[in-house]
Order: sequence, then C-alpha cells, then structure tokens
Amino acid sequence: MATTSAEGITVDCCRGCGKRFVPPAYVCCECGGEAFVPDRIPGEGTIYTHTVIRVAPEAFQNEVPYPMAVVELPLGLRMTARMHLEEGQEMRIGQEVRCVAKKDSGYWFALK
Ligand SMILES: [Zn+2]
Repeated sequence: MATTSAEGITVDCCRGCGKRFVPPAYVCCECGGEAFVPDRIPGEGTIYTHTVIRVAPEAFQNEVPYPMAVVELPLGLRMTARMHLEEGQEMRIGQEVRCVAKKDSGYWFALK
C-alpha cells in the first residue's frame, strides 16, 4: 500500500468528562452528559474481529461479498469499518490497519 499517512477519525468527545464515542452517543454513559464536541483521533488500530458480508443491506447488494472488520482504535474505541484488501490479502485478528478513506457509508481501512 501507499505510504500516505492515515486519515483521522472524527469522534464525539463528552464536554462533561472527556470520554470519546464512535459512533456518536446521545447521552454519555460515564457522566450522563448530553453535550459533545467533535474530536479527531488517529485513524490507526488493529483488527478486533472480521467477517465477509454476503447478505448486505439493499444499498450495498451490488458490492457483495465484501470484507468488514471491527477495528480497535486508540482510547479503547471500536468501530465497524469496510476493509480495502489488495489481491491476495487476508484479514487476521490483531493485524494493524489504518484508515484510508471516509465515505457516506462510513470509514474504510486497509492493512498496514
Ligand atoms: Zn461524560
């Protein structure tokens, strides 16, 4: 893969206690606060678990099968993301990944 730096990820940061959320929360589970400010975290992490989607929501039916992973991010955050795999690449739990794009449907990651 190219050596460009990873895309950052926008998360919600609780005004009350600073806890970060992704995807956004409406109420902070730590302090009960309801005010959030956007924050950026590095778009790098490791694969927590992964799967290949073969039965997709209607909007993505023409893209199946496609790989997805739950990515473990900094600060203990986890995010479900589409994976961009090169020919022959396979996902493994614990593998390092980085965010390569943000689209309407969410973030895309690739193997590091
Ligand atoms: Zn809070």
